[in-house]
Amino acid sequence: METSLPVGDRPRRPEWMKVRAPSTNTRYYDVKKLIHGASLNTICEEARCPNIAECWGRGTATFQILGETCTRACRYCYVNSGKPSEPVDPLEPLRVAQAAAQMSLEHVVVTSVDRDDVPDRGAGHYAATIRALRAKLPEATIEVLTPDFLDVEEQALATVIDARPDVFNHNIETVRRLHARMRGAKASYDGALHLLQRAKELADYPVLTKSGIIVGLGETNDEVVDTLRDLRAHGVDVVTIGQYLQPSAKHAPIDRWVHPDEFAWMREQGEALGFGSVFAGPLVRSSYRADEQRHAAATGRGAVSY
Ligand code: SF4
Repeated sequence: METSLPVGDRPRRPEWMKVRAPSTNTRYYDVKKLIHGASLNTICEEARCPNIAECWGRGTATFQILGETCTRACRYCYVNSGKPSEPVDPLEPLRVAQAAAQMSLEHVVVTSVDRDDVPDRGAGHYAATIRALRAKLPEATIEVLTPDFLDVEEQALATVIDARPDVFNHNIETVRRLHARMRGAKASYDGALHLLQRAKELADYPVLTKSGIIVGLGETNDEVVDTLRDLRAHGVDVVTIGQYLQPSAKHAPIDRWVHPDEFAWMREQGEALGFGSVFAGPLVRSSYRADEQRHAAATGRGAVSY
């Protein structure tokens, strides 16, 4: 059953979803020049993130490795999907490390497209990127936001965790009832939970695990809390909750605009469940102020609403 409102009845973008344009007073254009000059991709641009002016203006960005084309086609995601035309670039990890060093990042976030066409699903490339970052920026903390490593989960996880990222992030994205509809048959709600749990079990150091939920896809607030409960039961430390924005008419429609008060309520629910950090708010994304999310979890500062 389709739960979304017809287009004509859907409420307009509310005031709290308005974002500012890039300002010439910030580091936005420096970051843009650096990223493009190094032939790197960012999820900030590829997913048309609404926070790009703020994040790049702060001198941060989230690197997207393994190319521009994703082998999945999630119904909420703007990243280009199809059959990747280029092989994995073995020099990309070095360029990411070089750019992160030039940006003087203290917390580096790396994500990727899904690469179901590559035997190790890109796990070795993640490990190479983490190692290149460590060599170039030994003081920085490193966060990876990985795909689900379909069919090679255990081996791929071992490869990534062996490179010792500080934060292992895998987004569950939506509630159990909507998972297959939004993410396709290859992805699995329980598989995502298992991946998060196994990352922690495989690590012989205190890795933080993290996941994210987007709301406005047709879920109820109670289902969001059920998902928070599932994540916590699998040892997840950090969680983000943010509003879905429909990237194009071909993507899943927005079911509702979640009010900031509801995000505050979700944050309280997460806090009560014992997460080290809960970032919940209309414009929160998995990598939004990721340095602060990690710091909040590591220092027990707890939950924040944006
Ligand atoms: S929230 Fe994440 S994806 Fe969006 S602009 Fe900031 S760093 Fe990039």
